[in-house]
Amino acid sequence: MNPHVDFHVHTLFSADGRSSMEDQCRRAVELGLQEVAFTEHLDLQPDDPFFGFYNREAYEAEFVRCQALFDGRLTLRRGVEVTYQQEFHDQIVNWLTGYPYDYVIGSVHAVRMEALFREDLYRRWNVRDTYTWYYEELERAARSGLFSALGHLDLPKRYSYHIYGPVPWTDYREQVEAVLKAAVATGTGIEINTSGLASRARETFPGPGVVALYRRLGGEVLTIGSDAHGTDQLGFGLGEAVAIAREAGFPAVATFSTRQPVLIPLE
Ligand SMILES: [Zn+2]
Ligand SMILES: [Zn+2]
Repeated sequence: MNPHVDFHVHTLFSADGRSSMEDQCRRAVELGLQEVAFTEHLDLQPDDPFFGFYNREAYEAEFVRCQALFDGRLTLRRGVEVTYQQEFHDQIVNWLTGYPYDYVIGSVHAVRMEALFREDLYRRWNVRDTYTWYYEELERAARSGLFSALGHLDLPKRYSYHIYGPVPWTDYREQVEAVLKAAVATGTGIEINTSGLASRARETFPGPGVVALYRRLGGEVLTIGSDAHGTDQLGFGLGEAVAIAREAGFPAVATFSTRQPVLIPLE
C-alpha cells in the first residue's frame, strides 16, 4: 500500500486511548508506516466525559521524546481532533492559536449539546432530525476554515446503524454537498476514516460516493486515517482507503506539516 501514512491516531493522551504513544510508534514501524499524526481529542463541553482530559504540555513532552526515539524511522506529526461545536467556537480559535500543530481535524461529535455516541439519542431523535442537525453543524465547521480536514464525515452511521438501519448519503445529498462545497471554498480537506469498515456499517466514514462527490466538486485535500485508539487498530484498512481515493479520481493523498497539505502521489 502506498502511501504509508496514518493521519488519525489516538494514544493515552485521549481519554479513550488504549496504547501509549511509544507503543503506537513501535507498531507503526512494524507495519512499515512512514508518517503518523497523533490526533488527540479536544472536547470543550463541560459535561462531556472527555472534558478537561486534553493535556498539551504532557503530550508535547512525550511527542518530543518519541520523535527522538524513532528518529530516522518514523515521522511524527503534531495533531489534534477538535470536537467542533458552535457553542465553543471562540474557545476553539484560542486553542488553535500559539501551538505548532501540523494537522487539525474538525469533528462533530455532538449536536445541540448532546453527544452522538449516546445511543438513547437515536431513540429520542428521528433519523431526519439527527442527520439534518448533524450536517448543519458540520457545515459550520467547514465554513469556519479552522481545520485541516473534517473528521469521519458521516459519523452518525457509526452509532445509529443498528437503530436507523442503513441511511444512504443520497437521502441528504443537498446537505452533504453544502458541507463539501464549504470545505472546498475554505481549503478544508476531508479524511477517509477506515474505522467504519469494522463498524456495523461496514463502510468507511465517509463512503466512496461522498469521496467521489468531494472530488467532483473540486476537492483536492484527502487524508487517510484509521482512528486507531490502540495498536491493534493502527493502519487498519488504509489499503482500502487508497483504493477508494484512486477510484474517486484522486491523484494523491494528503499529509500535513505545519498545517500545510503535502500531497503524496498515488502510485
Ligand atoms: Zn472522532
Ligand atoms: Zn478520532
